Amino acid sequence: MVKAEAVHKSYGPVEVLKGIDLEVKQSEVFCLVGPSGSGKSTFLRCINHLEKINGGRLWVDGDLVGYQQRGDKLYELKDREVAMKRRDIGMVFQRFNLFPHMTAVENVMEAPVQVKGESKAAAKERAMALLERVGLADKARNYPSQLSGGQQQRVAIARALAMKPKLMLFDEPTSALDPELVGDVLDVMRGLAEEGMTMIVVTHEMGFAREVGDALVFMDGGVVVESGNPRDVLTNPQHERTRAFLSKVL
Ligand code: ATP
Ligand code: MG
Repeated sequence: MVKAEAVHKSYGPVEVLKGIDLEVKQSEVFCLVGPSGSGKSTFLRCINHLEKINGGRLWVDGDLVGYQQRGDKLYELKDREVAMKRRDIGMVFQRFNLFPHMTAVENVMEAPVQVKGESKAAAKERAMALLERVGLADKARNYPSQLSGGQQQRVAIARALAMKPKLMLFDEPTSALDPELVGDVLDVMRGLAEEGMTMIVVTHEMGFAREVGDALVFMDGGVVVESGNPRDVLTNPQHERTRAFLSKVL
């Protein structure tokens, strides 16, 4: 579903991704861990067309990100084509960026109506079903300010799912939450995993990685240091840098 080959990304003279190679298979829960500044968010942003890579190749669902290949030539995608590709990728951030002036159900309906041109009635029906799925049917008419952080984050997940994405990207979805609210969000993510959603999850929740993750990559300094089955990497890390990191988060 996602393949990276020698992906490089620099901001000016600062090289943030120094050759990332990895592969995320269909229906896999792929956990990305590593210290602050290691390039995790940057990598997700490259997958989601929010940043352009400076070298290497990146594919989502068989298509090169940002380019179209014709023969052996590459053509940059136009903005409209990028927008079409981005519809298939859902992203959930650390900070729940819901629209503050819209209720929960209006937030979930927004993109299907505005971007896909779905009828309001159909979008609302599906939005209600999605809110039900994340356990918030009774909060549909609440505004974000009337919801807890964990509830807002579950609305954000429902909103991403409303576009029927092929791939979901999670960037530390629980790290801004009070500890007692983390479990509900992880339960929603676990449910998604069970339904076969392909997910890349940046997280410090090692319990989730161990129980739900199919693969785990440890990144540091813009490179993949170590990867494998989450249980193996977490119980028997091979590299000193991985051990040092895990001793801080476990
Ligand atoms: P964290 O765990 O703190 O979220 P991260 O692994 O997600 O860290 P990134 O946000 O990808 O790290 O940042 C990697 C490096 O790239 C950092 O040194 C950061 O300062 C730099 N960086 C990120 N975005 C930009 C930008 N727009 N311009 C310049 N430098 C940037
Ligand atoms: Mg980050």
